[in-house]
Amino acid sequence: MRIVGVATDSKVYSVYIKQGIINECGKIINKLYTGKKVGIVTDSNVNRLYGKKLKAIIEEEGYEPFIVEFEAGENSKCLNSLENICSRLLEGGITRGDLIVAFGGGVAGDLGGFAASVLLRGIRYIQVPTTLIAQVDSSIGGKVGINLKEGKNLMGSFYQPEAVIIDPEFLKTLDEKYIADGMGEVIKYACIKDEGIFKLLEDGNNIISLPIIDDIIEKCCNIKAELVRDDEKDNGARMLLNFGHTFGHAIEKYYDYSRYSHGEAVALGMIHITSKAEAMGLTQEGTLDSMINLLKKYNLPYVLPPMDKTRLKDYILIDKKARGDNINLILLKKIGEAYIHNIKKDEIDIWL
Ligand code: NAD
Repeated sequence: MRIVGVATDSKVYSVYIKQGIINECGKIINKLYTGKKVGIVTDSNVNRLYGKKLKAIIEEEGYEPFIVEFEAGENSKCLNSLENICSRLLEGGITRGDLIVAFGGGVAGDLGGFAASVLLRGIRYIQVPTTLIAQVDSSIGGKVGINLKEGKNLMGSFYQPEAVIIDPEFLKTLDEKYIADGMGEVIKYACIKDEGIFKLLEDGNNIISLPIIDDIIEKCCNIKAELVRDDEKDNGARMLLNFGHTFGHAIEKYYDYSRYSHGEAVALGMIHITSKAEAMGLTQEGTLDSMINLLKKYNLPYVLPPMDKTRLKDYILIDKKARGDNINLILLKKIGEAYIHNIKKDEIDIWL
């Protein structure tokens, strides 16, 4: 088993990575929790595929698990579902001393984690991520939340889990498009912190096959753990994780979350910012070409569609990454090394 330690100001916890670790989930919970009730928050697809199994595994350890299902998809990351989930957790008998399991992709993690952070002013929870995005990124670091009509992830908290249990076997049932989507975030990690992963991805084929994927997940979790340890609340080093996201989020919103998935939008965001930065001499020459080649290999988009710049700018300025009169853009010095480039909001036009 691979174990990555995450140490933040508010909590220290472990990320367990192993094929088939789902079968040990009850035993891991046993080390963390002595109560009875376990509320499993999961989406309709994950519930259909794995709900019964996880419930039985937790039951075997003497707990009383119950499932709270929501409709799969990004649209569920909203106030309505949050309220619904909280009510159903209460109906199931959850109290402040109990445990919630956020089980599924990034949506279940963000939504279940946010419910855990606000219900009864905070209930302990663990993350059991089942998509590549969730296993390399969203389940670690405690950012939980929902979308508002004004934009993505605008309501939320920093609320760290008790543990993260990653079983790469879940990826076997994941649709190809979500694998490509997760690869967007994996390539982001490679770009900002680890030229080694970049080379591994350039050389490797069928990356999801054993045992390379375990290795990649562990490397990504280590990067995230390091950045979160230094900056839990996203005011410094953690911002490097936003590489590709300032434009990525704006592109997602521009197309009303229907044309591009998150990973695809991040891929386009990384390409856009790097093409500008390279032209301005702020990024090493050739970086853009290497990125394009890698994105092509993993079926991710790299050509931006024509967009109305005024609308795009509006979406960028409402993003959480905008602070007062400034915006922190994340640029690459070269592959494997990122830095924060602070600009005034009125300088954004040259980056569009
Ligand atoms: P998702 O949770 O909607 O999952 C994608 C689809 O895969 C869903 O239809 C789901 O039902 C299905 N699915 C999940 N696991 C499966 C499995 N093992 N087999 C078959 N199908 C499965 O979306 P996502 O792509 O995992 O995550 C995207 C979300 O994550 C976005 O809301 C994004 O904002 C958020 N996110 C959060 C953070 C963070 O730090 N909190 C970081 C990155 C992304």
